[in-house]
Amino acid sequence: MAAGHQPSPDTPAAPDLEAWLRTLQQALQVEADRGFIDLKGRHSRFSAFVIQQLRERPADLPDEPLQRILELKAGFDTYSQLSLARRQSLVRQCRERLHALRQAQRPVLAVAPPRLRLVSSAPGTTPSAGAADFTADTPLSEVRGVGPKTAARLAQLGLWVVRDLVHYYPRDYLDYANLVRISGLEPGRTATIVATVRRSHAFASPRNPNLSILELHLVDCTGRIRVSRFFAGQRFSSPGWLKSQQRLFPVGATVAVSGLVKETPYGPAFQDPLMEVLDSPQAPVRSETIGRLLPVYGLTEGLGADRLRQVVEAVLPVLRRWPDPLPKGLRRSQGLITRSEALTQIHAPASQEQLQASRRRLVFDEFLLLQLGLAQRRRQLSQRPAPPLALPAGGEGLVQRFLAILPFALTGAQERVLAEIRADLARHQPMARLVQGDVGSGKTVVALASLLTAIEAGCQGALMAPTEVLAEQHYRKLAEWLPQLHVTSALLTGSTPAPRRRQLLQDLANGQLQLLVGTHALLEDPVQFDRLGLVVVDEQHRFGVRQRNRLLAKGLQPHLLTMTATPIPRTLALSLHGDLDVSQIDELPPGRQPIRTHLIKGSQRQQAYGLIREQVALGQRAYVVLPLVEDSEKLELRSAVEVHRQLSEEEFPELSVGLLHGRLNSADKQAAIGAFARGECQVLVSTTVVEVGVDVPEASVMVIEHAERFGLAQLHQLRGRVGRGAAASHCLLINDSSNVLARQRLEVLVRSSDGFEIAEMDLRLRGPGQVLGTRQSGLPDLALASLTEDGAVLEEARDLARQITATDPDLQQHPGLAQALAEQRRRQMDQAARLN
Ligand code: ADP
Ligand code: MG
Repeated sequence: MAAGHQPSPDTPAAPDLEAWLRTLQQALQVEADRGFIDLKGRHSRFSAFVIQQLRERPADLPDEPLQRILELKAGFDTYSQLSLARRQSLVRQCRERLHALRQAQRPVLAVAPPRLRLVSSAPGTTPSAGAADFTADTPLSEVRGVGPKTAARLAQLGLWVVRDLVHYYPRDYLDYANLVRISGLEPGRTATIVATVRRSHAFASPRNPNLSILELHLVDCTGRIRVSRFFAGQRFSSPGWLKSQQRLFPVGATVAVSGLVKETPYGPAFQDPLMEVLDSPQAPVRSETIGRLLPVYGLTEGLGADRLRQVVEAVLPVLRRWPDPLPKGLRRSQGLITRSEALTQIHAPASQEQLQASRRRLVFDEFLLLQLGLAQRRRQLSQRPAPPLALPAGGEGLVQRFLAILPFALTGAQERVLAEIRADLARHQPMARLVQGDVGSGKTVVALASLLTAIEAGCQGALMAPTEVLAEQHYRKLAEWLPQLHVTSALLTGSTPAPRRRQLLQDLANGQLQLLVGTHALLEDPVQFDRLGLVVVDEQHRFGVRQRNRLLAKGLQPHLLTMTATPIPRTLALSLHGDLDVSQIDELPPGRQPIRTHLIKGSQRQQAYGLIREQVALGQRAYVVLPLVEDSEKLELRSAVEVHRQLSEEEFPELSVGLLHGRLNSADKQAAIGAFARGECQVLVSTTVVEVGVDVPEASVMVIEHAERFGLAQLHQLRGRVGRGAAASHCLLINDSSNVLARQRLEVLVRSSDGFEIAEMDLRLRGPGQVLGTRQSGLPDLALASLTEDGAVLEEARDLARQITATDPDLQQHPGLAQALAEQRRRQMDQAARLN
C-alpha cells in the first residue's frame, strides 16, 4: 500500500485535496486582507501563484465545480490590469467556488449537522412559581392556570391529581430534534435545519386575494431550499403586514426551521414549518418547539395539545422531590437513570437518547414491580397448605381406568404435562399451573385426568368454563365417561333451574357430589364445597385474577390449573404469569389432517358455498361465522339472522341450516349445537359463540366472514373448530378489506397452523396492547409496547426481581420498592373499583 503514496519520478505528486484547498484559500485570504494589491510573495506574485496552483491541482476533481473554477483563470491572467472592484469580485468568486468544490467532493454526511442551543425548558432547572407547593396528590384544579373547565376535561381523561398527569405519558413525539443539513432532508420525516436567508418575499397570492405567502430562499453549506408559509385571511394581505413579515426574516438572517418534510417536484420542501430567527447561529432558540422532541398526548374534546403540554410542564417540577424506589447501587448496576429524570424526560426529552433512556427506566420499573408482585403472590399462595393429593402407588387407579376407556392413547406431550400436574398435586403447596396448548391439542382429557386424581384422593373437583355452551359441552363429554367410573358429576350454570340447583348445592356441601362443572356461576356465594381439592379453569384468558381469587377462597386452599388455547411465547408467559408454572402441550394427536386455509374476497363467496355443498354431500358439516359487529349486539344479531335466512332460503334450500348467536337462551343454544352435532342440520350460521372449544368432529368447513375484523389468535381458535375428525378440512377467510396490513395479517394463517407462531406474529403485527390487553397482562401500555421492541428489559427486570426476592422476600431492605408495590396495588384496586 505504501507504493500508492510514493510519487513517481515523472509526474509531480498529486497534492492532497485538503492541503491544496487550504493553501489556495489562505492565499486568497491574505490578498483580500492586504487590499487586492497582487501581493508579491517569496517566489511569485499572488496571481501567478493562483494560476500555478490551478495547474497543479489534485486529480479526479468533480467536473462541474472544477470547470467553474477554471473559468476564473483568464481573470487571474490579467489580474494586475483589473480594477479594484473586479479584483475584489474575482477573489470572492474564487473562494466561493473552491468552497462549492469541496462540498461536492465530500460526502454530504461528512458535514456535521447544525447545532442548536436550546433554552432549557426542563422543569427541573427552571423553578416555576407555585410548583413548590404541589404534591403527587394535589388535585389538578389547584395547579396554577387550570380552571374548572380544563380540570373537567382532564378528568375526562382520568386525570385527577398531579400524579395522574405525571404518569400520562405521551403517545408519540414530533421529532424536531432531528437536526440536519439541507442536503440531508428526507421526505416523510420531521426535521430542523439552521440556514441563512438569501431572499425574503411576502406577497398576496395572485390567485386568491385572501391568501398571503411568505417565501424564503434559504441556504446552508450543503444546499438551498425554498420555504413557504401560507396565511389565510384578509387581514394578512395588507401591504403593511406583508412588509412586516419580510422584515421579520431579513436577508442575511439565520433562521431555524422545523417541520415535516414532503416531496415536491422541486425536491424536498417543508410543509407549513415553524420558524425562528436566531441572532447568530450560536444564539439560543427561544421556541418551545423548534429543535426539540415535542410530546403528543391523547386528547379529549375541548382540550388542546398546547394546553395539555402547558399543564404537564407546570406539574413536572414536583418530580424533583419524588423519591426513587430503586437504590442508587441497583440503579448504577442496571445502567438506569433516576425515576424523576425519567418521568421528566418522557414529557420533555431533549433528544432521542434521553427519550430512550427514560423509556427504558420506566419500562424497567413496570416489569420489576410486576415481577415482584407476582413473586409475592406466589409466596403467599405457597405458604398456605394445600391437601397433598398423593395417589396410592400402582394398582388400577381411577385415572388408569379412565385412560383405559378412552378410544385413544395420550400423546407424549399430554402424558408429560399430566405427569407434571400430578407431581404438583402430591405436594403440600398448592399447585398454580398454566397449561398452554394449541387448539385441538387435547387439553380437556388432561384436565379430566387431573380432576380424577383429586377425586381419587378423596377431594372434590371443579371445572370452570367461560361460556354456558362450553360448560355444557364439557359436561356432556364427562357424562359419557364418568358413570362408568362411578364418579358423580353435575352441571351448574346461570340457567340451572332453582330446585335442581338447591339439590345440587346440598350434595356438593355434604360431599356426595364429586365433580362440579359450570360457568362463573361457580363463583357465586351459595356454592360451598365439602372438600375442594382442584379447580380447573378452561380458557383462562377469559378469567380475571380477582375471579380466580374468589374461587380460591371457597375451599381449603385448592390446587389450581388453568388452561389456555391462546398461547403466547414461553418467556412472555413466564413473565406475565410469573405466579404460575407453565406447561405446554406442544404436540397434536396423531392422524390430524392439516386444515387447508384460503383467503378469498367477498365476490368469491360462491366458491365457499360450492365447497360447503361438496362437503355436505360427503357427509360433512360446515360453520359460517360472522364477526361481532363493533359493540353492537343488535347489528350482530341482524346480520346473523339475515345470513341465516339467505342461506337457508336461497343458497341451500335443500339443506337444514341452523342458527346460533349470543342472544339465544341457553336451551335454544344447546338445541342448535345439539342438532349440528347430531347432523340434523348440516350448516351452522353462528356468531363467535362457537369460538371457544366447541367440538363437532364431522365439521370440515369453516367459512369466516369479515375475517379482517378478528384477531389472529381468535381466527386460529375458530379454525380449530374444524379438522377435529379424520376428514380433510377447509377454512375460508373472507377478507372484505383492501387494507394491506389486514391482508398481510391474514396471510399468516394461510401459511401457518402453529398457534404459538401465530400468536407471536399477532403480537408483532398488532402489538401486545391489542393482543393481551392491559387488563389481562397487568401491564400498562408503555411496558406492553416495549415487549416487542425490547424484550431484553423484561429479562433484566425479571432477573433483578428474582435476585431481590431470593435475598429479601419481604422487601425490608428495599423500602422504596415495597412502597411502590403497595402504591401500585392501591391504584389497581382503585381502577378495578372504577370499572365495576
Ligand atoms: P383442546 O385442547 O382444543 O381443548 P380438546 O381437548 O377439545 O382440545 O381435544 C380435541 C379433540 O381431540 C377431542 O375430540 C379429543 O377427544 C381428541 N383427543 C384428545 N387427545 C387425543 C389423543 N391423544 N389422541 C386422539 N385424539 C385425542
Ligand atoms: Mg378446549
